[in-house]
Amino acid sequence: MAYLIDGKKISAEIKDELKEKVAVLKSQGKEIVLAVIQVGTNPASTVYVNNKKKACAYVGIRSLAFELPETVSEDELLALVRELNVNTEVNGILVQLPLPKHINEDKVIMTISPDKDVDGFHPQNVGNLSIGRKGFVSCTPAGIIQLLKRSNIAIEGKECVIVGRSNIVGKPMAMLLIQENGTVTISHSRTRNLKEVTKRADILIAAIGKPKFFNAEYIKEGAVVIDVGMNRDENDKLCGDVDFDSASTVASAITPVPGGVGPMTIAMLMTNCVEAAE
Ligand code: NDP
Repeated sequence: MAYLIDGKKISAEIKDELKEKVAVLKSQGKEIVLAVIQVGTNPASTVYVNNKKKACAYVGIRSLAFELPETVSEDELLALVRELNVNTEVNGILVQLPLPKHINEDKVIMTISPDKDVDGFHPQNVGNLSIGRKGFVSCTPAGIIQLLKRSNIAIEGKECVIVGRSNIVGKPMAMLLIQENGTVTISHSRTRNLKEVTKRADILIAAIGKPKFFNAEYIKEGAVVIDVGMNRDENDKLCGDVDFDSASTVASAITPVPGGVGPMTIAMLMTNCVEAAE
């Protein structure tokens, strides 16, 4: 049976470390403030936003909530972001995605000051990551690196296969694994013979958004399996991209869903907020 990589426990450790740091900053008169903007009332977004606010409260970060109606115009949203960019009290700005169709997400991301872009989505931060310079890193892939490191799983020299090439998960994941001296392959929906590719992986990162897609047939004996997926199964139960029961018969270590990558994403958002203030 595979070793269970406990994202809940590791994220709690990180949040406790941050809590201490934030307390020190507070004692020096520095308060950390995160502006959280939500447009509309998408139930999934509301859950994510509430979890982020809860984490802020735990760590000692003040969160400012901006709840805008679904009908808000792009100009109004951009005006709010610009206002927060120049507000010296605000350290980080988060705009919960997805946004309604009439608002251009790219435009919003480009408008957030790179110094306050705690999600790490701004092209300046993405560019910094790709050339190995300091900047904010997308929270989910940053969290996965922490999961591996804090579970004493070496990345150097390993065959790392990522399935999924999105801007927020797959691509930044590849950059981070390269920085850690992994040998990296990115695969996607046009990849031929996906099973052959994933079976090469010492570390497999599944990020495609398809419930329980990866069973034991996709996984090499002894591989480490990181499941990024957040899907609903046929019974509306939360599940990952990996068929956990099947995969854990061949993997040496595996993340569960829930309780794996998800909590790490929020812990890394908190880390980015503290870095923004520092
Ligand atoms: P996207 O939809 O943006 O990207 C999905 C990627 O998977 C694409 O690159 C796509 O290929 C690829 N893909 C889709 N189907 C297949 C297939 N059958 N075989 C191979 N590749 C395939 O998704 P995200 O990256 O935003 O998210 C992926 C999953 O991770 C989702 O379940 C999401 O909910 C979850 N997620 C979880 C987070 C967390 O905190 N735990 C945070 C972010 C995401 P192509 O490019 O060719 O279309």
